Amino acid sequence: MTTLHGGSATDTGRTRAINQDDLLVSEQLYAVADGMGGHQGGEVASALAIQTLREEVGDPTPESLLAGARSANKVIFQRAAVDPDLFGMGTTLCAVALIDEIDGHELIVINVGDSRAYLFRDQTLTQITRDHSLVEDLRQEGRLTDEELAVHPHRNIITRALGIAPEVEVDEFTVIPQRGDRLVLCSDGLFNEVTSGRIAATLRRLADPDDAAQELVRQANENGGRDNITCIVIDVVDDDGRAVDAATAAPAVRPRRSDRADLAGFSSADTAEDATDADRAEAVGSSSDAQSARQRRRTARSEKPDEPRPRRFTWRVAAFLVLLVAVLAVTAGIIAWYARGTYYVGFDDHGQVTLYQGRAKTFLWFHPTVVDHTGIDSTQVPAQFNDAVIDGKEWPSRSAAEQYLANIRKVICQGVAEVPAPGPGAPPTSNPAAGPTTTLPRECASRPSEPRFGPTTTSSTTSTTVSTLPPVVPPPTPAPPAP
Ligand code: MG
Repeated sequence: MTTLHGGSATDTGRTRAINQDDLLVSEQLYAVADGMGGHQGGEVASALAIQTLREEVGDPTPESLLAGARSANKVIFQRAAVDPDLFGMGTTLCAVALIDEIDGHELIVINVGDSRAYLFRDQTLTQITRDHSLVEDLRQEGRLTDEELAVHPHRNIITRALGIAPEVEVDEFTVIPQRGDRLVLCSDGLFNEVTSGRIAATLRRLADPDDAAQELVRQANENGGRDNITCIVIDVVDDDGRAVDAATAAPAVRPRRSDRADLAGFSSADTAEDATDADRAEAVGSSSDAQSARQRRRTARSEKPDEPRPRRFTWRVAAFLVLLVAVLAVTAGIIAWYARGTYYVGFDDHGQVTLYQGRAKTFLWFHPTVVDHTGIDSTQVPAQFNDAVIDGKEWPSRSAAEQYLANIRKVICQGVAEVPAPGPGAPPTSNPAAGPTTTLPRECASRPSEPRFGPTTTSSTTSTTVSTLPPVVPPPTPAPPAP
């Protein structure tokens, strides 16, 4: 939960007879009003503005804050209309309210006139509001520099105020508070006497908001005190962990454009070089963007009044995770199908022709597995198949690979069948002296009765043994003696 702690100070200054500034300090609402007008008109106008806000805003919402400002405008305008002594009175109004939105707390800043709101964050002072003044308009048009504006003789002429007309336009800004933030509300009696650099230095030096506010007023008097001086320093002392999130992950400010026009009054002499556009975009949102974003949240809240605040793990996150898992599963399936959906014929470590499942060359972490040892030795493989088997001939299915093996066996069997038959009386091949033997393919054994199938065979269900050595010729039998 975001909580604020404010301190304030106000002073007549060294040249004015009365203090026409007024201020409001409460738990969730802070305001500065700088009155103007003859006699006591300015004092009355600022007091009416603060009183109206206090009575009408209540538990602040952006709408109630804006309504309070417009109501104050009407009250002042109507009062001036019926009291000739107060004719032409008016006041500036700069206020900040802590708003409990559906997705967290916000600080809403409203402004009419040339009182200011500053944000001091990360040792950087940024002006939130834009002055409604003649010199600021000239500066916007490029006809005045910051230095010329600070000493311009008409810098006290404002172009917008409460109580001057029946209706008033109110500027609105949004700040997403972070623990450690400091906001400053002040009348022109402060910033016309104390530079932004000295304001920032004072905020760095004095931790207590009351001490900081009083010190700033003292400095304004020290530098001349030519106007009433009012200052409120507001500390964000808790933000429900938002500052930690901002430092480690997503920015604390919801996305919105950075409107330089809304920051035209930025004039911190010692921070202008340091403050980046990103800093300003994070710190301050424009009025129109804030209103549209709030409207969307209001709509959502009205449709689902009992629904708790959205959590980080939403249905969108869940849907994304489910989709991600599905994509990963499909991808893994495709990879597995590619790696394991193929068969190839190659030599195993012992030089035997073997049927494998998988890729001849290991793909990722998939190694081929043995489907069948054919029993065909490398020396038996016909020359026309030899290179393909060495490379690992791949087939899209097991049946295709087995057909390829059948072709190899067929050629081997035909070659064996063409070996010249041994002569009559050849010894049985079971004779160990017959020399080395070769195991024939199974298909060869399935045709034992073929007449040209070589010498003596030993049939079995799986193999046939045949001698490849020349037949042994028996020694000649001596001729019988003549009678
Ligand atoms: Mg003033």
